[in-house]
Amino acid sequence: MIAQSDFPLKLVKDSKCQLGEGPLWDTRRNCLYWVDILNHALHMHDPADPHRDRVLQAEPYISSVVPRHSGGLAVTLKDGYYALDPDSGKLTQLAAVATSSDRIRFNDGKCDPRGRYFAGTMSMSNESRQGSLYRLDPSLSIESILQGVSISNGLAWSSDGNTLYYIDTPERSVFAFDYDLSSGLPSNRRVAIRIPNEQGYPDGMTIDTEGMLWIAHWGGGQVTRWNPETGTQLLRVQLPVSQVTSCTFGGPKLSTLYITTARTGLSEKELQKQPLAGGLFALETRHAGTPAMAFLG
Ligand code: ZN
Repeated sequence: MIAQSDFPLKLVKDSKCQLGEGPLWDTRRNCLYWVDILNHALHMHDPADPHRDRVLQAEPYISSVVPRHSGGLAVTLKDGYYALDPDSGKLTQLAAVATSSDRIRFNDGKCDPRGRYFAGTMSMSNESRQGSLYRLDPSLSIESILQGVSISNGLAWSSDGNTLYYIDTPERSVFAFDYDLSSGLPSNRRVAIRIPNEQGYPDGMTIDTEGMLWIAHWGGGQVTRWNPETGTQLLRVQLPVSQVTSCTFGGPKLSTLYITTARTGLSEKELQKQPLAGGLFALETRHAGTPAMAFLG
């Protein structure tokens, strides 16, 4: 039996996201950002003053958000990387990717320890291996790092920066790579964690200060904590909804685990049983995350 977390899970926001994703704690503004990819929206939540919560339109298909070192935010939209001013909502393209099909869109993304913005793509019509993982450097040059990805998802780096963890959802695995911090290139791919079939699919993830991975289970109704060195599951957080998409640590001590969820893929009947699907949840933990890296470009 895997230990269940003994802290209560809270509903932070009944945001009814079609596809809530990409939570990010901004240590400069002490607020949480997350996206609703299918509603083309960026959500902002300030725990100190929820009256200031906002939703910004960011079309088409905003899929990830990171702080930008020079101010504001950087995001991925369907076809590339953009700068976003969270106060005005203004979007400015930083770099575009050329794809063979317009049924490809960006998905999850995050910065490496040197402030390079990694984000991957996926087919919008469920075709396998049409996606890639990209890296946007501070110089704004863009490089395709991995090809033949199906649904590019969670990214996390070990605290020394020498290991990259990466999820391609249909593979039901978390891969580990040796990561070369100076070149920004992964190598030596191996399976670190296998998600059992009855637990759904791995989606987004985050890493804590002890180097353990927290993984959201799409179709599995839970977040789990794992040791990627041994591939063992350490902890389970049960949610009242099945489409659990991603998680990140936030709050003043970075000890609050924020969890995003979705409504897409659920029937009317399932939605009646899961009225909070698409909401933002949170739970206090005995662990802590590390501050999100900003994009240095
Ligand atoms: Zn995802």
